[in-house]
Amino acid sequence: MIIKNNKIHLANIPTPIEKLSYQHNIYVKRDDMTGVEISGNKVRKLEYLVFDAVDKKSDILITCGGIQSNHARATAVAAVKMGMKAHLFLACDDDVVIEGNVLIDELYGATITTVTHEEFERVNERMEEAKRQYEKEGKTAYVIPLGASNTIGNLGYIEAFDEILDYEKENSITFNTIVCTVGSGGTYAGLWLGNYLSKSHKNIVGINVSQDAAYFKNVISKIATDTLRYLKNEKVVEPKEVTIIDGFVGKGYALSTKEELDFIKNTVMKTGIVFDPVYTGKAFRGLVCTLDNHPELIRKREDDNILFIHTGGLFAIFARTADLIG
Ligand SMILES: *Cc1c(COP(=O)(O)O)cnc(C)c1O
Repeated sequence: MIIKNNKIHLANIPTPIEKLSYQHNIYVKRDDMTGVEISGNKVRKLEYLVFDAVDKKSDILITCGGIQSNHARATAVAAVKMGMKAHLFLACDDDVVIEGNVLIDELYGATITTVTHEEFERVNERMEEAKRQYEKEGKTAYVIPLGASNTIGNLGYIEAFDEILDYEKENSITFNTIVCTVGSGGTYAGLWLGNYLSKSHKNIVGINVSQDAAYFKNVISKIATDTLRYLKNEKVVEPKEVTIIDGFVGKGYALSTKEELDFIKNTVMKTGIVFDPVYTGKAFRGLVCTLDNHPELIRKREDDNILFIHTGGLFAIFARTADLIG
């Protein structure tokens, strides 16, 4: 592993950007291609968080998520690459089926503790308890919060924003609007901060896949402000400075409607790209529906270029065969 400045090297970056042929001036940044086993948006955040964990001489990475968490899977892989162990707290009310991301977690030797959705509300306490237990055994554990969306994790998407600026220069193009999925908020926060710090004046739009817009405006303004403090910047980010388009959560986090599943299948055939049912499928559908019904929320002028960040999630489809091929 190359340790460079305040991060380790885990991600294949810069990721490619492709133009979609079927929709007007829409481009996709393929952050699903940050790697193979270790892939998606969490890898960018983990480059910074795992550096901090190594710096603190940690033996174990503790984190949490839904049963098919992409973030937990990426953490399990990062742990092995760094000679550490991973302990994952995954929300699951039923028996665990070893498929999709969980298969990768198992192959990479992660310790999995399943907790019910009710218990998951106190998962931070469970992770701290586990950390104390490891300490009693003489080991150092490092807790990474849900979705790796904290002060340090957010740095990953400030860097991704810089990558987008480099691409614009090299290819003589301007992306007026950047659209991303919002699951825990760190991807949006990093992009927003990159835009703010570089004075780029792009429109940064998030589409939430859980909770609602008010919730994420609060969460994101707070974690973005925390990251600015860490960078010794005094600005306070206000909730009203965060743009979230609500209305595409559907039946709830990680639950799918028939419209969403049909959209994913049709979009594969139109774009050649697989969007996942939990995150990018909902958000990309949100983008397409909003362009149809309220284009002014995304585009100021008809020729504005839009960049959608594909944040990954491919392994989740291997746990959804019956839903996708019914
Ligand atoms: C975690 C995740 C997201 C959400 O990103 P946040 O930074 O948590 O908002 C989006 N897409 C995929 C595939 C993810 O795994």
